[in-house]
Formats: sequence, structure tokens, C-alpha cells
Amino acid sequence: MISSRCRKLFHFHVSSALFTVLLMASILLPVRAAEAVTWSTLFTAQDVRDHLSTEQGRKDALAFCRKMGVTKVYIETFRGYQADDATLKAARDFFRQNGLQVSGCVTTVQVRKPSSGGHSWVCFTNRQTQERLEAIFRFTAALFDEIMIDDFFCTDCQCSECAAAKGGLSWDQYHEKLMLQVSRERVIAPARAVNPNVKVIIKFPQWYDRFQERGYVPDKQAAIFDRIWVGTELRDPASDKWGNKQQYEGYFIYRWLTSMGVSKTGGGWFDPFGTTPTLYLDQPLTTILAGAPEVFLFHYGALTSPEYQAQAEGLAPRRAQYEKLATYVSGWGGIPTYKPVSSEPGDEAYILDEIGMLGIPEAPTAHFPEGARAAILTTQALGDADLVPKLLRFLATGGTAFISQPLAHRLNGDPRLSTPSPLDFEKDQYLNTMKVGGGEVVVFSDILPHLTHVDGQNRVEQLTPELRAALEEWRRRVSDFTVTSIDAPPRVAIYPLGGRVAVVNYTELQVACRLTGLAGMAHKLAQVYALDGAKLAPDGTTLRLPPHAALVVE
Ligand SMILES: [Zn+2]
Repeated sequence: MISSRCRKLFHFHVSSALFTVLLMASILLPVRAAEAVTWSTLFTAQDVRDHLSTEQGRKDALAFCRKMGVTKVYIETFRGYQADDATLKAARDFFRQNGLQVSGCVTTVQVRKPSSGGHSWVCFTNRQTQERLEAIFRFTAALFDEIMIDDFFCTDCQCSECAAAKGGLSWDQYHEKLMLQVSRERVIAPARAVNPNVKVIIKFPQWYDRFQERGYVPDKQAAIFDRIWVGTELRDPASDKWGNKQQYEGYFIYRWLTSMGVSKTGGGWFDPFGTTPTLYLDQPLTTILAGAPEVFLFHYGALTSPEYQAQAEGLAPRRAQYEKLATYVSGWGGIPTYKPVSSEPGDEAYILDEIGMLGIPEAPTAHFPEGARAAILTTQALGDADLVPKLLRFLATGGTAFISQPLAHRLNGDPRLSTPSPLDFEKDQYLNTMKVGGGEVVVFSDILPHLTHVDGQNRVEQLTPELRAALEEWRRRVSDFTVTSIDAPPRVAIYPLGGRVAVVNYTELQVACRLTGLAGMAHKLAQVYALDGAKLAPDGTTLRLPPHAALVVE
């Protein structure tokens, strides 16, 4: 059954929040300085041509930067079109003279031979493509000490040259091998040969569940590049065209890539495409909650165009509020959620975003969470060939594994994993807990994460009493390990931040909810930060959040 998500006021009264351990932790946590957020923007190669070739154009661009709080700019040399050397130098020197940091950027589209896949990606096997790519990076490294690579640095080419080069490898294996080779030999080495001080940044797109098909290898690329960047682009969740994406995706991918890039993770990157002015603001909010020290606004030409300038106008006056929010962001908690590098999602692409949108906090990781008390495992975990032995060790130490229905289906019948009965459901059952190997397995129905799905008519699935009870039971189990809410509707996300908790209402409705987590002692919360009219009720336990509002409590 489906109902309009704009009609009903969600207001529930279940349990109240319990935070003794969190409060103790908060005393010990360092608070990040407000100036830790750097705002940056990009002048694409076409922007350089169209907006930076005259003195007046550069002054207008500087005025935009001042308005947006942008203190770092990326000036792109190539995006299918190569910008003029003199204009690039004039723009670089102009921004430097005006006190801004200046870096370069390259977008690897239309570099000689196109990919057979029909996207704007190219065939990186082709020798002339490789040579042209190398020339672009040599040119750019001569101008800048830092070079960002936009997220077209991948391929799905299956042309005859690629087929011959791949030999006995699978296409996925070949694309990964090829992109690592091109990264080392045609990007990093030539750039450093021209400019020994150059730092090269690889920016990853937000479609993390498809990296393995197109040659992105984040752990190995994080090792060879100087820095990594994270695409935290969010779209209208109701847009079929954009794939009905969940806002939690920006958080998931940022934390997941950071589990590999660690201190090399430089920031988040988003654009105005597929957003309304309201939805656009979910991006700085989510990107900052994920911990990005630099927020990269793609790109000048779009953000000053009639189509998208409302997005920029909406962000500009709110900068200080996001900078303040950043001071409360550290100590990310949640249940370790395992997605190995290069793992296939099977039928569960981006389910990890949906779980986060259920108010179940995730701590995304590319490493099996040995020693954790709880873990979330989905089909993606099968990308680890040693999953079952690791899971057995995890259960033997008393761990609780929350396992998706499709993964449970694929674990059933494995002689190494003996369960009292198959990991499955009775009719109308959505959560099934069983003791296995000294620990517990909690299988959740794939219907539960899909409660967060927004369809093309902006509707969400309505909770039946059975589904509501199953969701509450799942969250009760989760509350043994981290903070959650029993009564929040789907699409309210909860971000444990050391001794604090941020709650964001991504629905289009007013929400009132309470938090539950850790020990069993009731405690009144304190409001430390509120965005867009969110507030903690005088009872000290009920959080009231207008649509797209955020609240931080401790
Ligand atoms: Zn090819």
C-alpha cells in the first residue's frame, strides 16, 4: 500500500533516550575548529574559456567566490576541450593575487578513442589515448602543484583492442588492471616528472556499488594517489531518471572510502543537477556530517546559470550554519557495515544507503569488522572469499550479525555454517533471530530497507502494523550497540558522533521522534545545534524536525 508522504504527521511515543556512555565519551572528544571547513569551486575548461578570459570575467568570478565563502578554486585544463595556456595562467595568477588557493583539474572525457560502451568514457587501452592523456597531465602539472581528476577516470570499453589486451582476465579484472596501470604510468609518473611537487587527487563517483565494473579500485588507488576525493552528489530521491537515490549515500560513500583513504580523504564534491534548491542543501549537510574538511561546489558555470543559481543563492547565507555544524562532527559511530572493495551487490545495489535511511546508523568499512560486537552484512560481503570463516570467528566471540535476506539465502546450505534451521522467514515474518556458533544472526527481510524508497510520484510505502513491529524490533536490537530511534519514520537518519547524535529529517513531513541507545538508563538530552527550526522539546526527549531539518543533541 502506498500513501502520499506529504499527508500524515508522524508522531509516536515509544521509549526515551539513554545516553550515559555517550555523555561520558563526549567529555573526552576533541572539538574540530570551525574554520576546518574549506569551501571550494571548479572552473571547468569551458568555464575558463567562457568566464575567465577577460579581466571583468575574472572579477565576476572572484565576487562569486567571496559570496560563497570559497577560498580555494580548481582551474581545469581539460574536459574534452583543452583551455588556452595564457588564459589558465592569467586566471591562476589572478586568484592567487587575491588570496585564494589555486589548484588544477582534469576531466578525462573525449581523450582520443571513445569507449565502446557509449558513455563519455574513453578506451584507455588505445595507445594514442594513453599518449594524449599523458600529455594532458604533463601540461597541467607544469601549471599547478595539485591536480584533481574528475570522476570520468574509468572505462567500460570492450572494443577489439581491449578484448585482445585482456587475454584470459574477466572484463572487471581487466578494467581494474588497466586503470591502475594508466594511473601509475600515464598520470602520476608523467605529472611528477614535470613537477616533482605535484599532488594528484583521484575523485571517486558516488556510484560505489558499480566501481568494480568500470575500473575504480579505491584501496589500491588510494595507495598510489596523493589524495582521494568523494562524490557526495545527492539527487531528488523521487527521480527515476537519477535512480531514486537515498540521501544517506553521500554519508555512506564518504565514510566507506575514508576506511581506505584514511587521512588522504580530502573532501566531498557535489553539484546542483537533479536537485531542487531545498534538496541541494541536503548535500552540504550530509557532506559535512560525513566529515569532509573541504566542500567542493561543482561548478562555477552551473551555479551562476539561470537553471541552478537558486541553489547557490540558497547555500550562500547558510554557510556559517554549516561551518558551526562541522565543529560538532567527529567520532563517527554506528554498526560496522561491510562492503569489501570490488564487491558485487547482486540484487542489493545501494541497499546500504537504504538501511542508513531507516535510522540504523552504519559505520561503513571495506575491512571485515573483526572484534566488533555487531555487524551489518549484505550480498556485497560475499566479495570477501573468506567471509564464512570470518563470520564464524565473529559469531564465536558472541557477535551479532544483521544479515540481509538475499545474503542469508546464499549462506544457506553452506556446511561450514551450521544453523538450527535455514536462515529464512515464516509467512508475514520480516525479522528472524537465531543463535549460531556462540553469537546471533538476525536476518532482515529486504522489504524493510525498501520502506525508504521514494517512487516517481514522491510516495513511500506505508507501514503496516506487521512492518512497523518488525522495524521496531530491528531497531531495538540495534539499540544494544548504538543509538537509534524506535519511533522515527523511515527516511530519518541518525548519525552518532562521539558523545553527540545528529538527526536529519529527509522526509517531506514534520517528524517527532525519540532516541534510544546503549545502556538502560533514562536521561534528558541537551540541544547543542539546530538547523531550520528543528528543536528538542521541553521534555528533553522528543526531537521535533521540520522537513530537511537537522538537530544535534548530547
Ligand atoms: Zn577499448
